[in-house]
Amino acid sequence: MSPTGQEPCQTRLLRHGAELLHRADPALATLLDAEVRHQAGTLAMVASASAADPSVLAAGGAALSNVTAEGYPGARYHPGAVHFDGVERLAVERAKAAFLAQYANVQPHSCSSANFSVLSSLMPVGGVLLGLDLDAGGHLTHGSPASVTGRHFNAVHYGLCADGRIDYASVAELARAHRPAVIVAGASAYPRMIDFARFRAIADSVGAYLLADISHIAGLVVTGDHPSPIDIAHVTTTSTYKQLGGPRGGLILIGREHRTPGPDGRTTLARLMQQAVFPRSQGTPNPAAIAAKARALDLVTKPEFKETTRRIVENARVLAAAFTASGHRVLTGGTDNHMVLLDVWRRGLTGVVAERALEECGILANRNRIPGDTKPPLVAGGLRLGTNLLAQRGMGPAEMADCARLLDTVLGATTPVDDTSYRLVPEVRAEVRGEVARLCARFPLPFSESVTPETTGARQ
Ligand SMILES: *Cc1c(COP(=O)(O)O)cnc(C)c1O
Repeated sequence: MSPTGQEPCQTRLLRHGAELLHRADPALATLLDAEVRHQAGTLAMVASASAADPSVLAAGGAALSNVTAEGYPGARYHPGAVHFDGVERLAVERAKAAFLAQYANVQPHSCSSANFSVLSSLMPVGGVLLGLDLDAGGHLTHGSPASVTGRHFNAVHYGLCADGRIDYASVAELARAHRPAVIVAGASAYPRMIDFARFRAIADSVGAYLLADISHIAGLVVTGDHPSPIDIAHVTTTSTYKQLGGPRGGLILIGREHRTPGPDGRTTLARLMQQAVFPRSQGTPNPAAIAAKARALDLVTKPEFKETTRRIVENARVLAAAFTASGHRVLTGGTDNHMVLLDVWRRGLTGVVAERALEECGILANRNRIPGDTKPPLVAGGLRLGTNLLAQRGMGPAEMADCARLLDTVLGATTPVDDTSYRLVPEVRAEVRGEVARLCARFPLPFSESVTPETTGARQ
């Protein structure tokens, strides 16, 4: 309450907006409500997901959203950005503090947008880009032919060794052969530590810039559970909604290379990145999303977040060991981060069948292509699991054993009919749904204290 005894006006506005939404648009409000209950009652193990703190969601819904102002704090192309300037400066300072960076750009609407901004400012159209192959765990924006990065740049891809780890020798060899302007180190489906220093040595040996894309592991980087690339790479990018628990969006960060010249030999990398986002690849920033980023970037520096990332890593290790013990093939034999990759094809299932059977039981994990996969991306032969949300729920090793057992039970009760259809034993579905509901009730999401979970299955 404010000194006048009134609720702060932003709080009143959010409350009024929520009430109005319910009254004026029940069709939409009903869907949004159902989603809250759905998240509360679902065991989400999607490696790229996490739950935003309610205060992050509230900041993202701020009236600040109404501010239209191109440019940067103190240098806007529109009037009226005085408070937005304050918010954006706060977000930048918090990003720098969380990642121990010298430069931060908080405007990218996504990490894809951030990657495109960085790549297009570090090399011309037709420049050579060396990144991890999509099928080996790379991201579309690392030069896939399906992405503008693969169309505008001349993309060359490195892959993995037989043990599933990045083939650094081949990175060096490809760098020598193709002389890339930019090397990208980062992945969307890779359960092991990334040796950024080794990438930097290779980049230096051919005069390339190194872009570290830590979209998936940004939380672990903040807390030191994964070595930081900030002072090793020339530029680092990340999503804000994955491990950071922020809103949809991206960040561009630079450490000790912030004054290093860009390709023209004059403009510093920091200045280049400012131009790279606006005006090169984006228009107006999203002020409320930047407020939400500021909020999330404060939370990740708290001791509670350190405890969450510790649990994320421990849980993933326990989960990987449990799957191995029950006869599953875990790629690379384990994990160093939040991610576990399973070869379900070896158990006679496609990734999409495994994903759908699990979803029927209230467990979310996504299909993923794995090295040597013969199935198309929409089918795939692997399953990607992550422990971000399980750790946010406060689950620990004992519950990981439960989760591994539930997954194993569902996969064991699934009989494939063809690549995309299957039969699931109904009794198993009912039983697992019940167990999932009980687990979710015992370990509520941070936001779900006041929420009655949606129990789709047997209630017990
Ligand atoms: C998710 C991801 C991205 C894209 O992030 P968006 O914010 O969804 O655009 C980029 N790079 C990597 C490695 C990712 O995993």
